Amino acid sequence: MRVTTRISDLREDGTGRIGAFAGREMLDAEQIVAAAGAASAALLRPLRIRLPLYPLKGYSLTVNVKSLAAAPSISVTPGLHP
Ligand SMILES: Cc1cc2nc3c(=O)[nH]c(=O)nc-3n(C[C@H](O)[C@H](O)[C@H](O)COP(=O)(O)OP(=O)(O)OC[C@H]3O[C@@H](n4cnc5c(N)ncnc54)[C@H](O)[C@@H]3O)c2cc1C
Repeated sequence: MRVTTRISDLREDGTGRIGAFAGREMLDAEQIVAAAGAASAALLRPLRIRLPLYPLKGYSLTVNVKSLAAAPSISVTPGLHP
């Protein structure tokens, strides 16, 4: 078991087998479980597997407002969206 190896990509190895690659090295595995959190979508995309997954940072807060119309009606979310 290798616990600190970063998978650079998942792709076919040229013989029809799908491999997990760490750079040029293909890791020997009978099965692959993609559990890379938010990075899973990008790893699987070259295999044409589309995960409906997008990382967001969000926080909820409760405040007293003088005017409800001036209050945000969607979540307060920092960061950029595509
Ligand atoms: C600050 C913060 C607070 C949170 N608080 C809560 C909370 O209170 N309650 C709650 O339910 N959820 C909370 N979450 C969300 C929760 O942490 C995630 O939903 C959960 O960890 C997702 O689990 P996962 O196993 O899918 O992915 P992760 O926990 O993200 O694990 C993915 C792992 O894959 C590894 N990895 C990624 N890319 C590669 C690669 N190319 N090669 C090898 N390894 C890779 C990563 O290093 C990581 O160890 C919080 C998240 C954050 C950031």
